[in-house]
Amino acid sequence: MHEIKTDRKRLAFMTAFKTLDQADLKGKRVLLRVDLNVPMENGRVADATRIDRVTPTIVEIADKGGKVVLLAHFGRPKGERNEEDSLKPVVAALAEHLHRPVAFAEDCIGAPAQEAIAALKEGGVLLLENTRFHKGEEKNDPAFVEELARNGDIYVNDAFSAAHRAHASTEGLAHKLPAYAGRAMQAELEALNQALGEPKRPVMAIVGGAKISTKLDLLGNLVSKVEYLVIGGGMANTFLAAEGKAVGKSLCETPLLATAREIMSKAKATGCQIVLPEDVTVALTFKSHAPAHVVSADHVGPEEMILDVGPKAVAHVESLLEKCKTLVWNGPFGAFELPPFDEGTNAVAQTAARLTMEGKLLSVAGGGDTVSALNQAGVVSQFTYVSTAGGAFLEWLEGKQLPGVKALMA
Ligand code: AMP
Repeated sequence: MHEIKTDRKRLAFMTAFKTLDQADLKGKRVLLRVDLNVPMENGRVADATRIDRVTPTIVEIADKGGKVVLLAHFGRPKGERNEEDSLKPVVAALAEHLHRPVAFAEDCIGAPAQEAIAALKEGGVLLLENTRFHKGEEKNDPAFVEELARNGDIYVNDAFSAAHRAHASTEGLAHKLPAYAGRAMQAELEALNQALGEPKRPVMAIVGGAKISTKLDLLGNLVSKVEYLVIGGGMANTFLAAEGKAVGKSLCETPLLATAREIMSKAKATGCQIVLPEDVTVALTFKSHAPAHVVSADHVGPEEMILDVGPKAVAHVESLLEKCKTLVWNGPFGAFELPPFDEGTNAVAQTAARLTMEGKLLSVAGGGDTVSALNQAGVVSQFTYVSTAGGAFLEWLEGKQLPGVKALMA
């Protein structure tokens, strides 16, 4: 992804947490929290994006002579051991990405972990079994934290995507051992800080996706932080309806019309311009290649469904984007999985990518569906930063302090 320019503010932010640059790694047992909650198909890793993200940190620690002890969760075993949620099948994919052997211990604490760690040489890599096989993990139980801490000299957290959880391996350990951010965590925090913490202005936020109900806190936070709040996707329909427009059979959260009006008046008070689509693409069925046409947002027929923004809406967003220095994006403009209702998302994504490549825009995007939508538009590598963290990215957009990040800053 694009390089982020260094400036004084960025340096001030970076000193708030320690990175691998400050860590003395040689000969140390490094408890490295990573996100290996990767999609599996028939016992094999189906998408290795998360492994790719943590590979540089693992390699750097190993190459500096540290003994890398990987801590991770997998699935939702709720404190009970079960074979389905074992991390063992991930070992082969890890070894392949790291180009070095990876050992495995059947438990993350106790004798299996201790023996495997004792056998680790400098530069060696060991994966410990799923931390969530113990109830103490999600409870952040001090006794469990103590047992984990016994196995390391220092703690490195490289799992931003799990940082919204105050669990033993994501939060508790940071208080027990000297704590550092890994390279993936560092990149994520720097990108997020540049996007909303201390952004270059004007800032545009694009919030799309299905429903307002899942993004109320996020909208509430953004109206006080950005100059332009562009609303797309199904959630725009609720705002259009709140303005008194007919939205036919579109997805619309009628119980939230008053909330949508409150958000619009808060925006007015904070000087944030809310941008709703002036034209929309409608169809009679929610299907791929359903016959579709463009109408003004004032003229949606009673049987029609809004499934994407129209060309005028896209042009308007693009013209505003030309004036902006920073973009934060979560949620697609339309039902992007069903062509042609991906056109609005693709067009704006390509413009944002071009402006980023021209050095005119810092673009940060994240959230599950957003990553797929931008992948589909073919622009992920051209954005400044695309976060693969789902819940943690959304909580950050909501303005919440993430416990795993706060613990690193303490
Ligand atoms: P979210 O997970 O909230 O970001 O929502 C993403 C989902 O919103 C995607 O599956 C899209 O298909 C869906 N979506 C976006 N726009 C619309 C729309 N106008 N009507 C129905 N679903 C939509």
